Amino acid sequence: MAVIGIDEGASKTAGILLAEGRIEGRVRLRTDTSSSQAVLAGLLAACSHLMNEAASRRIEVSGIGVGVAGFIDFEAGVVTDAPNQPLHDFPIRDLLAREVGKPVCVDNDANLAALAEARLGAGKDSRYLIHLTLGTGIGGGIALDGRLYRGALGSAGEFGHIIIVEGGPQCNSGHHGCLEALASGTALYRRVEELAAGGVESAMTEDFLKNPESFTAGDICRHADSNDSFAIDILAEAGKHLGSGIATLVNIFNPDVVTLSGGLLECFHYMEGEMRRAYEENAIPISRRHARILTTALGDDGGQWGAAILAAEGG
Ligand SMILES: [Zn+2]
Repeated sequence: MAVIGIDEGASKTAGILLAEGRIEGRVRLRTDTSSSQAVLAGLLAACSHLMNEAASRRIEVSGIGVGVAGFIDFEAGVVTDAPNQPLHDFPIRDLLAREVGKPVCVDNDANLAALAEARLGAGKDSRYLIHLTLGTGIGGGIALDGRLYRGALGSAGEFGHIIIVEGGPQCNSGHHGCLEALASGTALYRRVEELAAGGVESAMTEDFLKNPESFTAGDICRHADSNDSFAIDILAEAGKHLGSGIATLVNIFNPDVVTLSGGLLECFHYMEGEMRRAYEENAIPISRRHARILTTALGDDGGQWGAAILAAEGG
């Protein structure tokens, strides 16, 4: 028996075929977000690819798990809203199940990353785990004794939207000063844009102005590597906000571990110092001394592993 785990994000859709705990096939597609039907077609294409892979090896697929970057009503299998995709009250679980003829489970992508980290990643020896995904946005998940805490409507763990600086910059969901608006890839990009618009001259702003569309958080990291002090400061400041956010979570949850994943980890060494400083300053001692902050043990695959675990357990 095998399962399929798919991590669907606004830019890419990646999936694994998992049989007897081993990855037997992979798929990776650019996500077409032109319409909800296009998103569904992309998921179907990813599933078909992996089901063909399974068929060619005479492995039977028992179910499919999908992680979606958005707000998910887990019980209903509906994407209620997704900040960067045209999905509103979209019954993605049932639509996909009808197309593929297999049971489908759908959850938030960061929840599934948390589940994977708790079961077989950096937090596998822990009982109380908090996970943060640091990418274009900031997502979160809560895994207690290896099971997800989802809340009444499935939207628990939206750590990207805890307020760090009241009246601060705005996020895509409309809040001001939330963690996502201060420390996500999007937030970092906006800081560079602000500096460039304000006439700050550095190799980084020059690079940004040459081609703003293709500039990414990875470029900020590159400029930090060449000692651009603006790049170093932007990353350190994001690290400080992240540390304050983690302190708040540790004060609330008293976790064993806080695990971090996502594309921004490539810049993490520039963020970590200020992150740990702000964390030390703001977390209460009893919780702070116990909790470990760890980076993912699953690379970019956490969401896919989590989706596969969900599928294997039938939700
Ligand atoms: Zn927000």
